[in-house]
Amino acid sequence: MASVVLKKITKAFGDVVVQKDIDLEIIDGEFIAFVGPSGCGKTTLLRMIAGLENITSGDMYIDNKRVNDVPPSERSISMVFQSYALYPHLNLKDNMTFGLRLKKTDPKEIEKRLDYASSILQLGNQLEKKPKELSGGQQQRVAIGRTLVNRPKVLLFDEPLSNLDASLRVQMRIEISKLHKRLNSTMVYVTHDQVEAMTMADRIVVLEGGRIAQVGTPLELYHYPTNRFVAGFIGSPKMNFINAKVIELNHHGVKVKLANDAQLTVQVEHVDLKVGDSVSVGIRPEHIDTSVSHQCSNGEPEQGGLILSSEIQVLEQLGHETQIYVEATCIESDLIIRYFDVADVALGEQFKFRIPEHRCHLFKKGGIACKRTYQEIGAKK
Ligand code: ATP
Repeated sequence: MASVVLKKITKAFGDVVVQKDIDLEIIDGEFIAFVGPSGCGKTTLLRMIAGLENITSGDMYIDNKRVNDVPPSERSISMVFQSYALYPHLNLKDNMTFGLRLKKTDPKEIEKRLDYASSILQLGNQLEKKPKELSGGQQQRVAIGRTLVNRPKVLLFDEPLSNLDASLRVQMRIEISKLHKRLNSTMVYVTHDQVEAMTMADRIVVLEGGRIAQVGTPLELYHYPTNRFVAGFIGSPKMNFINAKVIELNHHGVKVKLANDAQLTVQVEHVDLKVGDSVSVGIRPEHIDTSVSHQCSNGEPEQGGLILSSEIQVLEQLGHETQIYVEATCIESDLIIRYFDVADVALGEQFKFRIPEHRCHLFKKGGIACKRTYQEIGAKK
């Protein structure tokens, strides 16, 4: 186990700077996920931690030791890649111990480490098999086993589940989470699958264009995104955004006017805002209240917020939930609404819903979020 500290890390390929001033402290034993859109620099950051990519400027510490010039083999790290890259002609045992044998490790020690890794990954009765006799998930487990025999202080994963089908991904996700609990080792995991990040990580680092947009626990990012990019990136379907203008700053928050004089008071602090500013209101599809609709009533309607009625344009019936796409002409916005059951509605119908003020977010013109004052369950404000 070890901490990993990045101080003002910058990376350039030639003249092109792809990472700028990255400051990050990964705590000993923590599971950190790097997420962000394609090209934002997740893999490059991971490869710099591994020592596979040099650092243009800044300092990197693993276990309190500056490692900028330390080669990968001396960093006490191991990396699991998207492609398992097992040797097809070697059995699992030889695949897992190949590196140790190359380093001329004592055979007794090799046996001990193999026992340890194969028992943790439940591969004990498969060790004589060749990779082609295994499923994709089992092969990825062997690739993880190959890293565990090195007793790394930090385990790095670069999109390890991308090649697996949906159900195997879920299974491996759970296995990697269990592995982290059992080993209690520091893990850094790159993925563009936000569900993987939300379900496995202690903290998530959201990257945007080579910079850190926000670092926080999954629920902190979900409930208190610090900008519009993170708000839109975390959560599926995406948060709805509605254009508005500030009309009053009061002790409840910020009163805004949407199109056609519709009004809402968003419960946020109003630092650096003034009457007349253009802003956008954010509301997650699952936070729009459908209980006011006679078709999908799930309880007594709550008071407050904005009650609207709009035409249903698209319906996605998923069984456990219905995603209802409406054209809210009254506020000049298209909205997605999630209802957690089969909804008894049809295309073209009018659908009534409520935007509850306390679940709304508010973003200033440049996309910076106003700090929400409503306390959500399970997340620090
Ligand atoms: P993806 O999710 O698509 O894998 P990523 O977030 O992991 O993307 P990186 O692969 O780290 O992104 O790439 C970040 C940026 O650095 C990209 O613009 C990429 O083109 C650039 N880049 C990466 N490796 C090199 C290289 N060896 N030479 C030049 N540019 C590179």
